[in-house]
Amino acid sequence: MNILVSDKLSTRGVEVLEHAGFTVGFKTKLSKEELLKEIKDYEGLIVRSATKVTKEVIEAGGRLRIIGRAGTGLDNVDTDAATRRGIVVMNTPGGNTITTAEHTMAMVVAMSRKIPQATASMKAGKWEKSKFMGVELNNKTMGLVGLGQIGSHVTKLAQGHFMNVIGYDPYLAKDRAKQMGIEVVELDELFQRADVISVHTPLTNETRGLINTATIKTMKDGVMIVNCARGGIINEQDLYEALKSEKVFAAAFDVFEEEPIQADHPLLTLDNFVCTPHIGASTEEAQENVAIGIAEQFVDYFKRGIARGAVNVPSVSPEVLPQLQPYLVLAERMGLFQAQLLEGGVKSVTVEYFGEVAGLTVAPLTTAVLRGLLAPILEDVINFVNAPVVAKDRGIEVKEVK
Ligand code: NAD
Repeated sequence: MNILVSDKLSTRGVEVLEHAGFTVGFKTKLSKEELLKEIKDYEGLIVRSATKVTKEVIEAGGRLRIIGRAGTGLDNVDTDAATRRGIVVMNTPGGNTITTAEHTMAMVVAMSRKIPQATASMKAGKWEKSKFMGVELNNKTMGLVGLGQIGSHVTKLAQGHFMNVIGYDPYLAKDRAKQMGIEVVELDELFQRADVISVHTPLTNETRGLINTATIKTMKDGVMIVNCARGGIINEQDLYEALKSEKVFAAAFDVFEEEPIQADHPLLTLDNFVCTPHIGASTEEAQENVAIGIAEQFVDYFKRGIARGAVNVPSVSPEVLPQLQPYLVLAERMGLFQAQLLEGGVKSVTVEYFGEVAGLTVAPLTTAVLRGLLAPILEDVINFVNAPVVAKDRGIEVKEVK
């Protein structure tokens, strides 16, 4: 098998591929034309976020069978075009979790003690000891919106700072949150009680502008706000006003509505605003995790036919797939449809099969329903392989009836 790695990838990933006997073309910074020419010779393509895997690229890759993203976001891959050509698209959910959670906590500590501002002041030759009065985290309340992979790990880190953690996630069974030591509350209560608020949800219609002038008004004076999730969850203009008036003591962002952020963005003029350029996942360890992860997934796929981390096909044998394919599309759409009808969390899902389909292997179809149902709230994390496990972890009971 020939695998093209077209973005910067930890060499540990390349080693895994070569060890399995694959030939690796490690060619980064290819122009669009070069990529279109190059892709013809490869069965597999591994990218991070730089390479744009467009419909044109996919169509040029006559031998292409699999596209892997070392990381989670698939904004740069035309998954629909790949699906139409029967190409598997996979990512490595979870590889960035710890790193992003640690970055979140670093932001909380940095802004509560004004560390970036103090560093800048000292480097400017000053010794402004009285200017940098901070806030202690001990015994304060951390309010987490979104208790998925990253939110859960931030919980442990905040508890390590002796903070009380309260959380809101309508899609997670309350028991799971309680097991993590989180007091589950409604969103308005979280806004009223938290000293630090950190968002860890995807950007959806529900979460866009979740923190805005009206919600900030309900918060404690001197609250701190963090966004290491997705730009747009917090309204930047509204936050600017609240930081300026010092209703909000400080805010720290790793992600922005527009990236890169404009150099004259009003938030950048404020002393109580701490920021980093979307580096939440940028550590050696995370990059190595996702590189090894995607390489091992490629080996599994080519050597054992198992599509771990696949976002567009279930892990079924090539003989069964054609029979299941139309039902898979239907099952996923039914799940997506139900997700739009639902309000709040899901406790149980029953999938009933009648007629011809009941004679087929239906487990992948149930998985497809779950993927559809959970995809709008879990974004790139949910795939055709982990959907049943994720559902179980969230306390959702799944029944299959024939
Ligand atoms: P996840 O899917 O494991 O968790 C997301 C959680 O949000 C889920 O538990 C879901 O139930 C919850 N949720 C969805 N809608 C909600 C709503 N309206 N209100 C409250 N909760 C809601 O995802 P994750 O891996 O924990 O990632 C969280 C966020 O961090 C994502 O937006 C992801 O894109 C982002 N992220 C950023 C970086 C970075 O570099 N800064 C790196 C990795 C992930």
